[in-house]
Amino acid sequence: MDIINNSLPALAVRGICPIPNSEIRIEVGRENSIKAIEDSEKANGGNICLLIQKNPTIEVPSCDDLENVGLLAKIVMKIKLPGGSLKVKFKIIERITINSFELVSPFFKVSYQPLQTVIGDQDEELALVRLVINQVIDNPNVFNTNSQEIIKEIQGGLSSEVLCDVVASNIKTLDRVKYVREPELNKRLRFILEDIGREKQISYLENKINEDVKKSIDESQKEYYLREKMRAIQNELGDKARQEEEVDALRKKILDAHMPKNIEEKALQELKRFGSTPPSVAESGIIKAYLDFLVALPWDNASVDCTDLKLAKELLDKHHYGLDKVKNRIVEYLAVKIMTGRNPQTILCLVGPPGVGKTSLATSIAEALGRKFVKQSLGGVHDESEIRGHRRTYIGALPGRILKGMKEAGTVNPVFLLDEIDKMASDYKGDPASAMLEVLDPEQNAKFSDHYVEEPYDLSQVLFITTANYLENIPAPLRDRMEIVQLSSYTEIEKFHIAREHLIGKQLALHGLKEEQFTITDEAIYEVIQKYTREAGVRSLDRQISALIRKAIKDILIDKLDNVYVDVNKVHEYLGKTIYDHTLAEEKSQVGVVTGLAYTEFGGDILPIEVTYYHGKGGLVLTGKLGDVMKESAMAALSFVKSHADHFGIDYKLFEENDIHIHVPEGAVPKDGPSAGVTMATAIVSALTNRVVRNDLGMTGEITLRGYVLPIGGLREKSIAAHRSGLHTILIPKENQRDIDEIPEEVRNNLEIIPVDNVDDVIKYAFK
Ligand code: ADP
Repeated sequence: MDIINNSLPALAVRGICPIPNSEIRIEVGRENSIKAIEDSEKANGGNICLLIQKNPTIEVPSCDDLENVGLLAKIVMKIKLPGGSLKVKFKIIERITINSFELVSPFFKVSYQPLQTVIGDQDEELALVRLVINQVIDNPNVFNTNSQEIIKEIQGGLSSEVLCDVVASNIKTLDRVKYVREPELNKRLRFILEDIGREKQISYLENKINEDVKKSIDESQKEYYLREKMRAIQNELGDKARQEEEVDALRKKILDAHMPKNIEEKALQELKRFGSTPPSVAESGIIKAYLDFLVALPWDNASVDCTDLKLAKELLDKHHYGLDKVKNRIVEYLAVKIMTGRNPQTILCLVGPPGVGKTSLATSIAEALGRKFVKQSLGGVHDESEIRGHRRTYIGALPGRILKGMKEAGTVNPVFLLDEIDKMASDYKGDPASAMLEVLDPEQNAKFSDHYVEEPYDLSQVLFITTANYLENIPAPLRDRMEIVQLSSYTEIEKFHIAREHLIGKQLALHGLKEEQFTITDEAIYEVIQKYTREAGVRSLDRQISALIRKAIKDILIDKLDNVYVDVNKVHEYLGKTIYDHTLAEEKSQVGVVTGLAYTEFGGDILPIEVTYYHGKGGLVLTGKLGDVMKESAMAALSFVKSHADHFGIDYKLFEENDIHIHVPEGAVPKDGPSAGVTMATAIVSALTNRVVRNDLGMTGEITLRGYVLPIGGLREKSIAAHRSGLHTILIPKENQRDIDEIPEEVRNNLEIIPVDNVDDVIKYAFK
C-alpha cells in the first residue's frame, strides 16, 4: 500500500456509494473534481478521498452536504473524454472517517482517519455468513449485476469482511451508505440479510403488482370481449325480448278471447312453442299467424237480437220496392226465429237473376235483427279447402271462407250470406257442396271443422242465408236443406219505381248531392231503363244513374249551376249513344223465323229460331251450340212435322230430297232446356210451306210426338222478357194458364197471352 497521508484531495461522488474491495468507474465533469484528480495524481500518487454527497442534485456541495464517512481510493485508470471531462476508474481501498474539510480552492482537501472494521462474535459471524451465502444463492435477483459472477467469486473463498463488501457493493438497496458508516462486520452482514429480506418482499410485491396489473389488463380485455359478446347476445336477445313481449300480449289475448277450454289449452301450448322458436325460423311466423287468427275469431261475443218484428217489416219495406211475396216470406221466417229464439231449421235461399235485391234483402234482415252482416261468395269455389281451409302442414295454409267470414263478423251470431251457392263446382279436390252441407246443417254445424283451425268451431248461432241465380244448378242435397224464395225480373214499371224511390236517392247521398240539386223527369228514367240497360235486375240501371249524377256534379261545379234538370235530351247528352233499341223482336215477319222465349239465369229472354232447307239427302243440321235437350227437341219437332206432313200440306218428297237446317243465332243465351219444341216445329212448318210467321209473336213450350204442348217454367220471366222485347202476343202452354196471375199487371195489360194446347193452335195463331 502506498503512503497514506491523512490529508488528501477529495472528490464528491453523487448518486453512487462506493464500497471497499471493489472498483468503480466515474465520469468526472465538475471543474473542482477534475482539479482534485489532477492534484491527487500530481502530489499524492493517485490516492484520493471519495466523499459521498448526501443530495445528488447539488452541483457545488459544501461540507454540510457531504457524509462524514468516505472512502480511500486509488486512481487506476483515467481517460479524457471529448469536451474536457474524464472517465476515471478507482479502486476502493478502505472506509474512512472525515475529520475536517479544507477548501483549497477549487477543491476540498480532507483530513481523515481509517475506519477500522470491528469483528464481533465469531459464531454469530459464521451463522450470518452462511445465511448470507444461502440467501444470495437462493435469490439471484437481489443483485444489480450478474449474480452468477458474484456467486462464483464467493464460492472461490473470501474472508467474511471481503464477502460482505462484495455482496454489499452489488446488492440492491435503498441505503448503501450504511455499509460504509457501520464499523461492526456482523451488523453489516445483518444489513445484507435485511436488504435481501426487503428485496424479496419488494420483488414479491413487484410480482404481485405485476400480476395485478396483468390481471387488470386481462380483466379489461376480458371485459371488452364479454361486452362484445354481450352486444351480440343482446342483439339476439333484443329479438327474443320482442318475442317475449309478443308472447305476453298474445297470452293476454288468448285468455281474453274466452275460447272453449280445450281450444284455449291448445292455443297456450302453441304459444309455448312460439316462445321457444327463434323469430328467424319460418315456423315462428306460421304459429303467430295461427294464434292471431284464433284470437281474432269470435268465441263468445254475441250481439243481442232485436225482436221487434214490426220494425223488421218496416225496414224491409223501407229499403225495397215491391217484392211483397218475398218480404212476407222473410217476415214469416223472422217471426219463427223470434218466437222460438232459435235459428229456423231451414236455410233461406234467395233465388233470382242478378241485381234483383237478394243481397240487399239479406243486409236488411241483418239490420232488422241488429246483427252483423258478412258475405262470402261461393262463385267458382271448386275445392273443398276453400270452405274448410288448408291443413297447417301446407305452406301458405289459410283458413276457409266460413271462418274467414266469422273473423270478419267478430260476433258468433252474424247474418252470413253465402252468395252464388249455385256456382260451386266439384272436382277431384273434393266436393265443396258436402262441406257446405256441414255448414248449413244445424245438426252438424255446432262442431264445424276447419282444417286450419283444427278444432271444432260452433256455427250454430249463425243465421245463414244463401243466394243463387238458377235453382237447377244448386246441388240437390243442398237444395233439400233450403227454403227457396224466388225473386224474379223486374218489369219496366217496377224498375222505374225502384229508380225513383230508391236508387236515385241512394246515389245522390253517396255522391253528396242534395235532392233539390238534381231533378230527373219520368221520361228520362224510362229512357235510361229502355235504351241504356237491358237486364233482369237493376244493377246497370243503378250504375247509369250514378253516371248521370257524376256528370251533373261536374256541370254544377264547372258551370256553377244551382241545379241540374235531366230530361230525355240530357240523358242522351250525359250517357252518349243509346246502347239498346227498345224492340228486339224481328223487324218484319219472315218465312222460317220464329221467336221463342227462354228462361236463363239472367232472367227471361227472347230466342229467335231460324229454319231453312236445301237440296240434300233428308238430313238434319243443327247449329248454334245447342245442348242435348235442345237437340232432342229439334229431332222431336222434325219427327212430328214429318209424321203430320199431310196435315200441314207438305209434300213428303221435300224431306227426302232436302237437308233441313235449324239454327239458333242468339249468342248469349245458354241453349239447353229452353222449351223450344213448339218454336222449332213452327219454324220447320213455316219454312217448308213457305208461310210467313208473325214477327210480334213469341211462343214457348215443349211438344210431344203427337203434337201436344207441354207446360213450362219461368212464365213470369218469359212474359216480362217478351214485353221488354216489344212482342205483342205470346203463346203459352194451356197448363200454364194457372200461372198467368204471376205475370205483372203492366205486362198482362200490354201483352196478348194465348194459352195453346197443341201445335195446330200454335200454327193457327202464328201464321199471318
Ligand atoms: P243481387 O244480390 O240480387 O244481385 P243486389 O241486392 O246487389 O242484387 O241489388 C243491386 C242493387 O239494386 C242494390 O243497390 C239494391 O239495393 C237495388 N235493388 C234491387 N232490388 C231493389 C228493390 N226492390 N227496391 C229497391 N232497391 C233494389
